[in-house]
Amino acid sequence: MNNENEMPQTTGVCKYCGQRKLIQTVGEITQAQADEIVTSECDCPDAKKMKNRKSKITKANEWAELRFERTPEVIALFQEVFRSVTNNEVEKVSIKANEWTHNVFLDSDGYLTVKSSKKVDEEESFA
Ligand SMILES: [Zn+2]
Repeated sequence: MNNENEMPQTTGVCKYCGQRKLIQTVGEITQAQADEIVTSECDCPDAKKMKNRKSKITKANEWAELRFERTPEVIALFQEVFRSVTNNEVEKVSIKANEWTHNVFLDSDGYLTVKSSKKVDEEESFA
């Protein structure tokens, strides 16, 4: 036996297509972590779809964190909505925060979209 670096090797399984792959890691990892890595690197259609969904959620969350940095409860709400909309649990969600209405949905190209509008009413009366 001649294993110079003694890099731990684990076989991970893609949770979508079941493809097995031997991976080398610097430290010890659990089976679940190995499966996660193999799934995230797999080229099967379902794994790609999942990757794509994760990317949308990450970007949308970054946007929400900037946009609502002073209201963590609104960020948390958006994060939940992004998860549900990209998972096709719901088609569209409207969030009302202050005087803004934010509609969250997947557009026809599959982009996770937030359409925000603000109701502005102005009235001046003079006598
Ligand atoms: Zn796969």
